[in-house]
Amino acid sequence: MARPIQSTMQEVPLTITDIFRRAASLFSASQVVTFEGDTSRRADFSEVTERVTRLAAGLRYLGVKPGDRVGTFCWNHQEHLEAYFAVPLLGAVLHTLNVRLSPAQLAHVINSGGDRVVIVDAGLTPLLAAIRSQLTTVEKVVVVGRADTSGLGAVVDYDELLKSSTPLRTLPVLDERQPAAMCHTSGTTGDPRGIVYSHRSVWLHSLAMIANFAFNEHDRIGLMVPMFHVNGWGKPYAAFMCGADLLLPERFLQPQPLLAFVAAERPTIVVGVPTIFQGLLTAAQAAGTELDFIRLGICGGAAVPTTLMQAYQPWFPLIQAWGMTETSPLGMVALPPRGVIEGDSSYWYYRSKTGRPVAGVEVRLIGDSGTPLPWDGKTVGEVEVRGPWVASSHLGGVGRDRFHDGWLRTGDVGTVDELGYVQITDRTKDIIKSGGEWISSLELENQLLAHPAVLDAAVVGIPDERWGERPLVVLAFRPGQSVDPEDLRQFLIGKVPSFWLPESWAVVLAIPKTPVGKQDKKALRQLQVEGRFEVQRLVRVEAVWADRLRGPKGGR
Ligand code: AMP
Repeated sequence: MARPIQSTMQEVPLTITDIFRRAASLFSASQVVTFEGDTSRRADFSEVTERVTRLAAGLRYLGVKPGDRVGTFCWNHQEHLEAYFAVPLLGAVLHTLNVRLSPAQLAHVINSGGDRVVIVDAGLTPLLAAIRSQLTTVEKVVVVGRADTSGLGAVVDYDELLKSSTPLRTLPVLDERQPAAMCHTSGTTGDPRGIVYSHRSVWLHSLAMIANFAFNEHDRIGLMVPMFHVNGWGKPYAAFMCGADLLLPERFLQPQPLLAFVAAERPTIVVGVPTIFQGLLTAAQAAGTELDFIRLGICGGAAVPTTLMQAYQPWFPLIQAWGMTETSPLGMVALPPRGVIEGDSSYWYYRSKTGRPVAGVEVRLIGDSGTPLPWDGKTVGEVEVRGPWVASSHLGGVGRDRFHDGWLRTGDVGTVDELGYVQITDRTKDIIKSGGEWISSLELENQLLAHPAVLDAAVVGIPDERWGERPLVVLAFRPGQSVDPEDLRQFLIGKVPSFWLPESWAVVLAIPKTPVGKQDKKALRQLQVEGRFEVQRLVRVEAVWADRLRGPKGGR
């Protein structure tokens, strides 16, 4: 009998250090461009990678050791990108913080992440100062830009830190399974949950990004999603791996400035949620700006309307992708199968699907009893996924029910057709997705129930042309009491993120319940569809969102 043989291949660790070295040695002329509202500042990879080694040395000087967490509370700009590399290169863990969390959620996320250092934009320092006394692990705060830092204690200036540091020449050797980066989910049924990415998962995900969208060094990638959302959808690492330019719009995601940025910098790839693409489209049409220099748009985070994709089609294909914080995020892409080309009757059928799993990610459809369901395009079940950049648990072991059998339960329900095209039709939970972000109905209800006049409150999502969905509050008051919804809205201010504040309200005598006494949201939605509620609308959604997208005033 022949002797067993072993692989003769090398086992090279797949690390962010490798991605970084490629960028530094092969793509020195590629650029990182940061929009500042009117003009852009730019730096090439040789400058950025040198600054990364200075930041790494500076963080080490501040006491950051392998395994330590460094939080970033920043918009999309060059310094944030520098942290994306400097922190993992040290063997420490980059923890991107969502600038839109409520103060309580933000404190929870920083504490549960155990961040020792937080890098914060000057314009965001008031948000951090407001919770500084609640932060139990943070020792140092590094500020990017000039700011009023009162309430933050002793701070370190980002530029000074770089200036006073000698580039770190010898980078530590890392294990590919080491934690590299961490993101928290938006916090739906309870507190946000942490997902910890490894060097290996980031490396493989970057390669998947390059493979699926043919990213290369001739590309300029316009990153129109916040860098605190799932590692900027993995684009920064992918861009460094292949030498593509990175175009970062800072906090200027509103249609007009975003269009100005796009028109001036001419990306070949643009990435964003449907709401951002809707805003860009409207602005481009109004200004008569042709966007035909773009070769590809990648849209996800929420279902992408077919009409939106069709509106972009004369300029470039706006392709739907699906992902989650737990999936790094790339999981599925909706490209038509072989033999189906534009003009064919089935072309938009496939383009409108949620997507087909990309190489490396497996999908299955599971029924209530836990058994696999057929791929017939009709049977509805929960979508489960697995793969080398899919989470196998949440930080601290919370949410164990989301993982079983080596698979992640996505919480999305839908169908899979014979060719493996998934269509997400609903969510298992009653989360409201507004402009690509989550609004927790339970959290809103919780806050409303704290008002003395409120007996019962239920929040359901209602369709909204611009934002996908917005919350509708259905209220029952205590006998003999009633409060103007405008006052209740005021009552919510400061308790939830401002973009959660509902503008649609309805008052009922009693909220329908299921036989076990839970709120019957299915029945509520049905009543809403039938027009049985007298809905009172308070403010224009646009006003709330314009406020939100503008972000805090006062520089970065
Ligand atoms: P997050 O973890 O915040 O990125 O949210 C992940 C969730 O966004 C998924 O579980 C889906 O419910 C939703 N999602 C992402 N992409 C899509 C898409 N293309 N179509 C429908 N829902 C999507």
